[in-house]
Amino acid sequence: EPTSLSGLPSGVGEALEAEGVAELYPPQAEAVEAGLLEGENLVAAVPTASGKTLIAELAMLSAIERGGTALYIVPLRALASEKRAEFERFEEFGVTVGVSTGNYESDGEWLATRDVIVATSEKVDSLIRNGAPWIDDLSCVVSDEIHLVNDRSRGPTLEVTLAKLRRINEGLQTVALSATVGNAREIADWLDAALVDSDWRPIDLRVGVHANGAIDFDDGSRTDVPVGDPPTDDQTAALVDDALDTVEDGRGGSSLVFVNSRRNAESAARNLARVTRRHLEEAEREELDALAEEIRSGSETDTGESLAEVIEAGAAFHHAGLTSDQRALVEDAFRDRLIKCICATPTLAAGVNTPARRVIVRDWRRYDGEFGGMKPLDALEVHQMCGRAGRPGLDPYGEAVLLANDAEQSEELFDRYVWADAEPVRSKLAAEPALRTHVLATIATGFASTREGLFEFLANTLYAEQADDDRHLRSVTDGVVEYLVANEFLERERDGGREALAATSIGHTVSRLYLDPMSAAELIDGLRAAGGGGSAASDGTDTLDADGVRYAPSEDPDEQADGFVTYGRVDGDGKGGDGERSDDGAAAAAAGDAGIDLTPLGLYHLVSRTPDMYELYLKSGDEERYTQTYYEREAELLGAAPSEHEEVRFEDWLASLKTARLLEDWATEVDEDRIAERYQVGPGDVRGKVDAAEWLLRAAETLAREIDLPEAAVTSIRDARKRVEYGVREELLELAGVREVGRKRARRLYEAGIASRDDLREADKATVLGALRGRERTAETILENAGREDPSMDDVRPDASAAAAAT
Ligand code: ADP
Repeated sequence: EPTSLSGLPSGVGEALEAEGVAELYPPQAEAVEAGLLEGENLVAAVPTASGKTLIAELAMLSAIERGGTALYIVPLRALASEKRAEFERFEEFGVTVGVSTGNYESDGEWLATRDVIVATSEKVDSLIRNGAPWIDDLSCVVSDEIHLVNDRSRGPTLEVTLAKLRRINEGLQTVALSATVGNAREIADWLDAALVDSDWRPIDLRVGVHANGAIDFDDGSRTDVPVGDPPTDDQTAALVDDALDTVEDGRGGSSLVFVNSRRNAESAARNLARVTRRHLEEAEREELDALAEEIRSGSETDTGESLAEVIEAGAAFHHAGLTSDQRALVEDAFRDRLIKCICATPTLAAGVNTPARRVIVRDWRRYDGEFGGMKPLDALEVHQMCGRAGRPGLDPYGEAVLLANDAEQSEELFDRYVWADAEPVRSKLAAEPALRTHVLATIATGFASTREGLFEFLANTLYAEQADDDRHLRSVTDGVVEYLVANEFLERERDGGREALAATSIGHTVSRLYLDPMSAAELIDGLRAAGGGGSAASDGTDTLDADGVRYAPSEDPDEQADGFVTYGRVDGDGKGGDGERSDDGAAAAAAGDAGIDLTPLGLYHLVSRTPDMYELYLKSGDEERYTQTYYEREAELLGAAPSEHEEVRFEDWLASLKTARLLEDWATEVDEDRIAERYQVGPGDVRGKVDAAEWLLRAAETLAREIDLPEAAVTSIRDARKRVEYGVREELLELAGVREVGRKRARRLYEAGIASRDDLREADKATVLGALRGRERTAETILENAGREDPSMDDVRPDASAAAAAT
């Protein structure tokens, strides 16, 4: 029983009991027996929803009780705040919690005062590179979803970060949580950890395949679920309808449907809304209407509108194109059983706690660019989706159903997923893009200073644990070192007979900025080309990239989970924003004084070309449209364009131009929903691009100083960055920089004759209030932020003419 748990802050045992933790689940008890509360390393490989989080909490709380601090590494940024909220319930026992998000380069000193810190592995890696002092003092690190070391784009960072943490602090307790995988023992060996490897689940799971009007389950049972007439005229619809029928308490069995792309999630939700609608009661209908209204008022985009429409009918979709507010609303309403069915991309299977009575894996194949077609999902992924079935306390058991066309395919699915074990997890560290960044950081941060030292450090990784010998790793590492030396990020020094490796000044900067060295090389080349100076580093830039291959984005795994499949509307938007063509000639002319031509579009294009910005794809009609744009605005683009005969590289160039145009639209105050529509992306994507551009331009500014570009160039970069940060034209930069103002309010204030911070301090309050549509609290906060002595709006009446001028 939890009360017998010793070594926790007092009161925690009772609190857990009050939450319904009457006794530890068997895997949890096993973990405690293995020394979890005494600081022992542990790998827990247990199914989804089997209480992994409590294992982590017990480890962290006991470490804190001993006077230490803990770090919890989450796989997705979106999960960081969710985990923080979860851990904050221990604040009443004196445990403080902090989450580290935001810019990679910030050093997060305030975190030193926290007992528990939540962060992504990228963030932790960046904090190490920037020398955050509290890292040295950690006593416990938890790595959630450690099986993601298998992920090509993000796995290597997780692996290297754990290796660094353990190297910095030999006594560090390492707790790793994993889905059930084929080689949990290997992971435990890598981390010198005890292993809890268990299939135990708190609620039974039946897995089956639906074909020919019936589900065959793994326990040999069969349930008829015939496909009917509309609206239950396909397998998914029939299964959702059936789940909603079978459960006794009237509120029915919710379903979670996994599909392979955002577009499919949205269209499946529209289809299934016809089914869920029939199962709603009047009171539910009203609550759902209110939710739909909330969605509509939060975002006036197409995505928001389609989401609101299906929510009214008790269905929803869930993918990375939604804003975090939209996602949270959907998840909450589903847990409250108001939303009966969510159609989701596979991201939902990882992390988010949304159990359902019935999980339906509709698409077990997904488009894979590298594979060049539709590829079956890994058993590991499908098992995680299936693991979402069964709501403890509500369902007698959970059901997971895969869809097959016929008996033959049914058999294939049984073999591939139902009877199959999850694949072993394999390190992806030996891939060039991963090593490029980690080799530079390892040397820049002082973990190694020679070639041999580098190999010695890499020996602490899962890769080394798994490889028969290190020949391959050595040869790729040697190539990467060559690349880094050629680009002047590293230099070789003779130290007696030994050859030492050291980071150059730029190399240090690139490591701290958390840039992919290839991005840095691209930025430096583009900036040097603009400056008219020679390009000393350019010779080696393409050594690893001669064919123009752009590596997969590392920022957003959901992008990958979605298989990058987003489809354009065939009619397109031929206007391409001509109405809002920017008037940035002035900025160009200003910078031109110093002989440098840096316009926002040119800079946006430059950052969009780097592997740190994940691409917008060219859709039907785009190639023509952006070729046209290219001819019109060629003079603004930095560096030499690839020849049109180099098809792949030229297409990449145009795709970057498309991204640059999106950013330019944003920086000329085009509405967010217009942008989403024009580029056929979700509102979350616009935000993602804007954030990435802001970060990369900040990096470009630092690099421009580092390579001694004239001050005018640095200023152009800063202005382009601020414009994208605030989403405004030049004249609003100062206003939008006042906290709480934002792009729309800045424009309204400007129209009312208030153009600067000083103006805000001196303006007639009635005018300010009028421009802010009579919102007193907002007006007071803004005036206060602008430094006004007497921000109070008591007795001020909004000036109607200011309001009129501002609309
Ligand atoms: P996982 O992280 O393994 O996916 P969670 O930690 O989210 O699973 O646990 C799923 C649910 O089980 C949570 O709602 C949690 O509160 C509950 N839970 C965990 N441990 C126990 C326990 N020992 N007794 C009762 N409920 C528990």
